[in-house]
Amino acid sequence: MTPTITCLQCGAIVPRNPRVKKKQKYCSGIECQKLRRISWKKKAYAKDKSYRRKHLDTQATWRDQRPVHEYQKQYRASHPEYVKRNRELQRARNKKRQGAQEPMIVNGNSLSLQPSGDVTYALIQVKKLKDCKWELVHGCNAGIIRARDDLAFS
Ligand SMILES: [Zn+2]
Repeated sequence: MTPTITCLQCGAIVPRNPRVKKKQKYCSGIECQKLRRISWKKKAYAKDKSYRRKHLDTQATWRDQRPVHEYQKQYRASHPEYVKRNRELQRARNKKRQGAQEPMIVNGNSLSLQPSGDVTYALIQVKKLKDCKWELVHGCNAGIIRARDDLAFS
């Protein structure tokens, strides 16, 4: 009776290859062999310093020979549909971003100055409190603010 193995990838029970000296874990299927090589490379990369150094050097050499901007330029030249789609998506993002930059003070006309001693207060309607340039004393949608010394009224 020939010894058999159970493939780690596909689970098939196949006769053991007598030429494999170590414990055979995979059958000869193309996908199973690909997975075997990938797992060997991952293991070697994680454990073998010289393998990792060589791998990184090879990648660096490859990258030096193919500058990223050149690759992108070639890719964009040969894929006009990609360029068109990218441009449309970026325009949509720009439009969305412009929409988000609405003024924080919804109604600037409601700004009323009420001097009190040497401190100036104003009642304004506030849309968002984020990035507010005013020192907020109290507020939800509306707030009473006190002008900071570095802000000037006109
Ligand atoms: Zn297999």
